Amino acid sequence: MKIGIVGSGMVGSAAGYAMALMGVGTRIVLVDAEPAMARAQAQDIAHATPFASTVAIHAGDYTDLKDAAVVVIAAGVSQKPGESRLALLERNVAVFQSVISGIMQHAPNAILLIASNPVDVMTFAAQRISGLPPERVIGSGTILDTARFRSLLGEHLAIAPSSIHAYVLGEHGDSEVAVWSSAMAGSVPIISFADQIGRPLDAGARERIAEEVRSAAYTIIEGKGATWYGIGAGLARVARSIIDDENALFSVSQVSEEVEGVSDVALSLPRIVGARGIVANLMPDLDEGERAALKRSAVVISDYTSKLGF
Ligand code: ADP
Repeated sequence: MKIGIVGSGMVGSAAGYAMALMGVGTRIVLVDAEPAMARAQAQDIAHATPFASTVAIHAGDYTDLKDAAVVVIAAGVSQKPGESRLALLERNVAVFQSVISGIMQHAPNAILLIASNPVDVMTFAAQRISGLPPERVIGSGTILDTARFRSLLGEHLAIAPSSIHAYVLGEHGDSEVAVWSSAMAGSVPIISFADQIGRPLDAGARERIAEEVRSAAYTIIEGKGATWYGIGAGLARVARSIIDDENALFSVSQVSEEVEGVSDVALSLPRIVGARGIVANLMPDLDEGERAALKRSAVVISDYTSKLGF
């Protein structure tokens, strides 16, 4: 199956690289406003595949996206000195207008996987611009925050992160919500498990872990300017769930009719992802504080999307 990636910068190419190494799909097409960039990234990744998989990867234009099952959108422009967040957002919406018109012309049946930031706002914009049903426009949302959360919990409890079921929900950004009340280690509530093994998750430990998750991107950006490997692997994982119709659960973003009283908002909840896109949504049990935090997060996103004039 064919996967398109529009925007072959750091995030788009990392997603292509992860897909190539993990063997996701059979053919990957990289598209970019700078065709030389797409060609160079495709060649570089193609030289890695003989060590890993039989996935074919090449550069192309929108016509080459014909019959793609999934198209990742990682295109975007970066902030100019002194530019406001809203002005930057408007320029990125303009990028999406052109990118999505190209995709819809040649791959109208593709599921869109949005990676450009701020991802919840861009997921909302992509759904409105494409006119696709919301379940076919999936934002990477908090997949990475959830992965970081599980990894830090795994370290604290000295167990494999894959045995931890815990989510970061809401905005992929400062207002995100680490959900403790329904977090589990195996089938045991995580706070109780932590007490049982003598590694308690008291209020201090919980705050430290949540803060580390929230600030992880800032720390990486300080050291290397941007983040790409984690999100690249996350995008590859979600793409696999679509291509293989896995119906796996991820915290990803989608335009939702209503979340905690806020209507028409794109944010992350645990959602089941398969060949038709998001096939079901889950609302975990939240305590009062978490509900209030999720509502605050929804309001932050909604304040931005309401200014975009869709
Ligand atoms: P990131 O770190 O988010 O990947 P980059 O700047 O490395 O950011 O990559 C963004 C990519 O998006 C660049 O390669 C840029 O050429 C591409 N891009 C920008 N505008 C468009 C557009 N209208 N169509 C396709 N690609 C675009």
